[in-house]
Amino acid sequence: MADCIFCKIVSKEIPSKVVYEDDDIMAFHDIEPQAPTHVIVIPKKHIQSIDHIYEEHKELLGHILLSIKNIAKELGLEDGYRVVNNCGELGGQTVNHIHFHLLGGRQLQWPPG
Ligand code: AMP
Ligand code: ZN
Repeated sequence: MADCIFCKIVSKEIPSKVVYEDDDIMAFHDIEPQAPTHVIVIPKKHIQSIDHIYEEHKELLGHILLSIKNIAKELGLEDGYRVVNNCGELGGQTVNHIHFHLLGGRQLQWPPG
């Protein structure tokens, strides 16, 4: 989709530090990390948010979660990590291409702000 930062990362118009990529998804380091490890995991296909997922996306979303587990292992997060999805304005979503934050490398606090 035009004017979507993450679609431009998928097409390599915008450079990113890729940690994993296959035909359907991509994972790259967040440009403003909130933890020692902060990776963004996205489908290559533009979907706006969790609020825009349907039955047809079930396999893709399962693939994303399994990949997050594998990426966490590869990045040495065996002591634990957090997966975050911000949805919509009040959810704090700033990039309108569905994405999952994978955060780790320090003790994470709960609840978030
Ligand atoms: P959210 O606030 O949940 O929509 O998260 C968007 C995330 O994308 C933020 O953590 C940003 O730091 C990150 N971000 C924005 N632009 C880029 C970029 N060009 N490369 C990597 N991460 C980015
Ligand atoms: Zn997009």
